[in-house]
Amino acid sequence: MATIEDSYRHKGMRQQLVNTLRAGGFSDERVLAAINEVPRHVFLDSSFVEIAYSDQAFPIGSGQTISQPSTVAFQSYLLEVDRGMKVLEIGTGSGYQACVLAALGAKVFTIERQRNLYFKTKEILELLPYRVKCFLGDGFEGLPNYQPFDRVIITAGAPSLPPKLIEQMKPGGMMVIPMDNPQGEGQTMMRITKFEDGTLKRESFGDYKFVPMLTGTGND
Ligand code: SAH
Repeated sequence: MATIEDSYRHKGMRQQLVNTLRAGGFSDERVLAAINEVPRHVFLDSSFVEIAYSDQAFPIGSGQTISQPSTVAFQSYLLEVDRGMKVLEIGTGSGYQACVLAALGAKVFTIERQRNLYFKTKEILELLPYRVKCFLGDGFEGLPNYQPFDRVIITAGAPSLPPKLIEQMKPGGMMVIPMDNPQGEGQTMMRITKFEDGTLKRESFGDYKFVPMLTGTGND
């Protein structure tokens, strides 16, 4: 079986990345500790080690990207994950965000719609010690058999608030979702809190750019 290499050099580069995020004003120490722990280079081809530890998004094949570390940090911070929480992620992609959430103590359930990416990432995740369960499917449907979730995180640009995902949230639960801007490009990062009576609070946190959240499964 393949194993992963996480050398002192990798650890040093990771510490540098954490310093960069801190210098950029990010100060959630729990999230920084998780980023310091998860070997991001494992999620990219081995020739991209330098890139793995710079604060940038990067292509991971199938037309998709691994999110920029500062975006992963910010979404993880907004999600307010506590140990033992059940978290649903839409858009597994490389699996990196899922592992950061698992390093924060979450039980992560993650859905990817692209078959190739699903199989590739599942293999990588099997080499790592994190509690992440992968599903191939359409994130708009959520995971009815595993609901309810304490937290939902969407890592693709969503055209609207997916009703089934709201339904699958616990009362008191939160969703972090980049919502397509009605005019122009990109998304606004939103946090939705669901109250006991079913009402929703919406907060917005600035502009981001994600690949689109698409319906159905495929290889496109
Ligand atoms: N969280 C990822 C970033 C993923 S990029 C990481 O850490 O690397 C967004 C991913 O969402 C892509 O892989 C894309 O295929 C997937 N995606 C888009 N629409 C989806 C949907 N409806 N259901 C599940 N995955 C979806």
